[in-house]
Amino acid sequence: MRTPFIAGNWKMNTELTEAASLVREMLVELDKVADVEKVLCPPFISLTAVKKLIKGTSIELGAQNMYFEEKGAYTGEISPIMLVDLCNFVILGHSERRQYFAETDEVINKKIKKALQFGIKPILCVGETLEDNEAGRTEQVITSQVKAALAGVNSTDLLVVAYEPIWAIGTGRAATGKQANDTIGLIRNSVRSLWNNQIAQAVRVLYGGSVTGENIAEFIIETEIDGALVGGASLKAKDFLSIVSQTAAIKSSR
Ligand code: PEP
Repeated sequence: MRTPFIAGNWKMNTELTEAASLVREMLVELDKVADVEKVLCPPFISLTAVKKLIKGTSIELGAQNMYFEEKGAYTGEISPIMLVDLCNFVILGHSERRQYFAETDEVINKKIKKALQFGIKPILCVGETLEDNEAGRTEQVITSQVKAALAGVNSTDLLVVAYEPIWAIGTGRAATGKQANDTIGLIRNSVRSLWNNQIAQAVRVLYGGSVTGENIAEFIIETEIDGALVGGASLKAKDFLSIVSQTAAIKSSR
């Protein structure tokens, strides 16, 4: 039985006081939702403040990126050493990192290995473009991204994967539950071929892309989908709470 998982990716939104207000707005109710792992991923500069606010609750913290070197002349980068005492998750390979910051599969693979080495749990994002989707290349793209990101990785128990079709991120055009479920099945196949069936069944795989309180149920009822990586809707306390509580209710009824 995989524990359901909902993470909020705040992206480059909220300055320090807004981040604190957002956490305060949902803290008590979010903490009460049992049987779902709940992770907030604010911008780097708010990690310390959010960590203090969630202390003693069931809410966990994640960063949105991390460099693969431990220290040195890498201006502007954040290392695993800086993150390890602050948060237990890190989003890696987000399509916005791939698209705007030219992150390659090779770089993402190095980051995944380094995060695992430090015990920081990676949320590995994979997803195809609209062009690839319409040309029927989804399976090829997803399989190749998963295999490249996880090449040479030997510990899988900390790993979470998020299927985020690029055409669905921030567009309001979510995939259907069936589409997401089918592609997540392909991700499990890739994990199976890298390791074995037991690992493929144990790894948590999320859907991400325009998830809201209105459509979360469509994804969560699907058997392969263990939760969601939520962008825009995670910036609204009410919506994020609704996503988390619906996930708890649906998954616990199965
Ligand atoms: C994301 O940032 O990972 C994401 C899925 O964004 P949104 O929910 O806004 O589409």
